[in-house]
Amino acid sequence: MAGNLLKKYQTMRDFGDTPEPAGKIKPVKGKKPIFVIQKHHASHLHYDFRLEMEGVLKSWAVPKGPSYDPSVKRLAMMTEDHPYDYASFEGVIPEGNYGAGNVIIWDQGTWEFIEPGDDAVKALRSGKLTFRMEGKKMFGEWALVRISGRGKKGDKGNEWLLLKHRDEFANEKIDVTEVAPRSVVSNKLVDEVSPKKVWQSNRKAGGKGTPTVAAKLEKEAKAATKSPRRSPRAASSRSRSSRAQSPPKARPTRRRQPR
Ligand code: MN
Repeated sequence: MAGNLLKKYQTMRDFGDTPEPAGKIKPVKGKKPIFVIQKHHASHLHYDFRLEMEGVLKSWAVPKGPSYDPSVKRLAMMTEDHPYDYASFEGVIPEGNYGAGNVIIWDQGTWEFIEPGDDAVKALRSGKLTFRMEGKKMFGEWALVRISGRGKKGDKGNEWLLLKHRDEFANEKIDVTEVAPRSVVSNKLVDEVSPKKVWQSNRKAGGKGTPTVAAKLEKEAKAATKSPRRSPRAASSRSRSSRAQSPPKARPTRRRQPR
């Protein structure tokens, strides 16, 4: 059904060069969906706000990050759907790649759809979504409301507002981005992420040497001949999307080499 949700994401990136996951669509289970907010120091600092829906992460870039003040509406630019695995990405997107710069997991947790209706995907399409968040920094009721896409000239339809609803968590005085700037995973500030410690992805462990596309192909072809359990396609036409087929639990212990 949702087979092509990641197409845009995948065509925008060279997975031979960036440590980000090529990703795949995750089967939707009964559990509460997850959310992640990544603080991303690209050419402009912003917060990537992502909600699990339809097996992927629906994504918005929020330049100023969330505010607990219900009178403050934060611009949120909807971006391409990201793979579910992206939620565990903390690291450095190398120079020359889309979104180059440091990324930390600023917050993560689960979310629950509130309204309107009983279907979050439909609500999203209608341009309004109210939900409850339970993370380490994000709590209570929030809303995303689309403000563009009404056919005006030059309007890409991707402008939304992220806002806090009035509830017991609302707070006009504390700026959460200010008081809690660190990663909830590594406790690092965004500019403290080192390229030597790039994200441990769920792809196959990398070997030593420069992680060029050519080196990868060679290494993976070798690995494929050694390991009979590997899919035969890994040996021959190794494409960047082939990583999407690696098993979800193949978490390497070895880290990617510095570039
Ligand atoms: Mn970003």
